Amino acid sequence: MAADKIIMHIDMDSFFASVEIRDKPELKEKPVVVCSKTFHLHMDTSKGVISAASYPARKFGLHSAMPLSEAVKLCPDVICLPMNNTLYRQVSDNVIKIIQKHVKTVQKVSIDEAYVLFKDNVISYEDAADCALKIKEEIKATERITCSVGIAPTKSAAKIASGFQKPDGITVVRPNEIKDFLAPLPVTKIPGVGKKTAETFDLLGIQTVGDLAKADKRRIYEKLGKHGMNFQDVANGLDTTQVMETADAKSISRFHSLSPYTNDPAAVKLGSESVCEEVHSILMQKKMYFKTISIGLRYSDFTTATKSRSHTVHTADIFFLKRHAQDMIDELMANTDSKKKVRQINIGVSNLKKTDAGQMQLTDFF
Ligand SMILES: [Mg+2]
Repeated sequence: MAADKIIMHIDMDSFFASVEIRDKPELKEKPVVVCSKTFHLHMDTSKGVISAASYPARKFGLHSAMPLSEAVKLCPDVICLPMNNTLYRQVSDNVIKIIQKHVKTVQKVSIDEAYVLFKDNVISYEDAADCALKIKEEIKATERITCSVGIAPTKSAAKIASGFQKPDGITVVRPNEIKDFLAPLPVTKIPGVGKKTAETFDLLGIQTVGDLAKADKRRIYEKLGKHGMNFQDVANGLDTTQVMETADAKSISRFHSLSPYTNDPAAVKLGSESVCEEVHSILMQKKMYFKTISIGLRYSDFTTATKSRSHTVHTADIFFLKRHAQDMIDELMANTDSKKKVRQINIGVSNLKKTDAGQMQLTDFF
């Protein structure tokens, strides 16, 4: 069997909430949700909407996109933390880098989700599951969060499978199992089938994926056109969409682990130089300019401090990058307990713009 017939979907488990909780062990068993920063500025529950809910919070029926006012009624003790997008982006980049080491192709579809094609030495579903386990273990060891994976012959089945045994699950659906796996599921499990489409299916007497697979093609086409046909293909395990390498990175970041850990700003800034150089060399390869610099300092107690700053013009100047990174490290460390030691420096650039080499300045190449 060719490796490109096996597709994996990786989905981080309640990503934002998990990242928050890993650094705050006292919140582990508590109902925690993450909300936008605007809510925290005004502390007005009528405005907040949940961006992510931890598993204990889900037990109360809380979920993402739920208004906070409703969440408070279901769970008066809910703990609401503000979004930290810079941190989530850094963790997401680190996770993607781990995945990339183990596989051939990665298509990142959102901050916490990716499709994967395996390397050519993965020739069976057992090999694929072994590889998935290695990826899961490495993410758990280095980022201390879990993900769930689905492995299947099509993208849609892989995506449905990754949601099948959350959290921390691996679900393998082999080609001969795909129809039986899909048949009993409600049609809403098919990616892209929302409430409205489900209502239309319901009018046609279709509730499960199995109903859709057997349904009369003409009636589906009449009601839902080409989309309906695509959904029926998915129901029959015949989805042919390909895994495409993510075209352009929205951000570039690298990290450096300090040994020994240190609370000396000079030592941290020195360590930041090589990270800036790595980030810069990727910018050069990709012929990109950046506008925003993000810094993350990971401390020995596993807390993380982050800072992100946007500038008025795009640049790829390495001196600019180093100088601003060092200023931001100074600011972060000045605001942190001076006894806390830094174990890892994360430096990223975003707000990227493609440029042709002709426009680049001399200093871009140093
Ligand atoms: Mg997720």
